[in-house]
Amino acid sequence: MYEITRDEGQQNYKKESMVQYERQLEELRKEKQDYVQKIDLLQHSIRVLEEKKSEFCYSTGGHTWVHDREYGLYGETFTYCEMCKKEG
Ligand SMILES: [Zn+2]
Repeated sequence: MYEITRDEGQQNYKKESMVQYERQLEELRKEKQDYVQKIDLLQHSIRVLEEKKSEFCYSTGGHTWVHDREYGLYGETFTYCEMCKKEG
């Protein structure tokens, strides 16, 4: 009869635990991947809508450009449309 020594028992326990850890990690990584894909999709939708908004602003009388200076000692000037916030 084959007897499992204490060391072997511990090794098996460890191996099984590792498999379970790996399974849980795999689940979390998969879930994370799903969110990353959703964020990509949202980012794309946001960009498309921003573009549409800007196009709409342009085709309904044009942008209303405003020049402003950023806060801070070395604030640089920047230009944006007062209506649609598009940066110029
Ligand atoms: Zn505009």
